[in-house]
Amino acid sequence: MRLLLVEDDLVLGPRLRQDLRRAGYAVDLVDNGVDAQFQGEEEAYDAVILDLGLPGRPGLEVLQNWRKAGSQLPVIVLTARDAWHERVDGLKAGADDYLGKPFHQEELLARLDALLRRAQERSEPQLAVAGLILDEERQCVMLADGETVELTGTEFRLLRYMMINPGKLLSKSRLTEHVYEGDADRDSNVIEAYIKRLRQKIGKSLIETRRGQGYIFGGETA
Ligand code: CA
Repeated sequence: MRLLLVEDDLVLGPRLRQDLRRAGYAVDLVDNGVDAQFQGEEEAYDAVILDLGLPGRPGLEVLQNWRKAGSQLPVIVLTARDAWHERVDGLKAGADDYLGKPFHQEELLARLDALLRRAQERSEPQLAVAGLILDEERQCVMLADGETVELTGTEFRLLRYMMINPGKLLSKSRLTEHVYEGDADRDSNVIEAYIKRLRQKIGKSLIETRRGQGYIFGGETA
């Protein structure tokens, strides 16, 4: 899954990006409201973490503009400590959740996980599809026969995205958008190579190729 992280603090921004990457997300970091609004409109993110105090354009205005344009992107706003009115304003502007600064990264990760599950309409904390169980904390997968297989960062992001969307035709460009960061080299042949490696790890039959269209994970009726 790919996140937009909007934070102008020169220490906090890169540190959060690192924490989120380590937790298995692709992360685009922007440090001002103007770029944030543009990126949120143009790119395919799964969720946004949005600081409210931003140069260029206030975070609240960015959020209002997204919502006015009909965007349903899940958004967590970062507010100043003890500023209850910021939390109220954020929720009224269409935020799905908020977190007051300073916060522990574990809380952000837990809130993000809960928000993504709500957005994907799944209630169970564990992702279990087509006989596979994904361990999102350890970033590995348990196969139907009980064997646990380690995954690289990209393999994990790819498999998680496919397990969240079983039975759907997923084009290479859609997979690329949700698995890679904005400045990554997005050659669709690379996705093919990763699909091949995933098949070697989880079994060939779980990922079906639709020539010229993309891939279907877990069978169409899953
Ligand atoms: Ca700020």
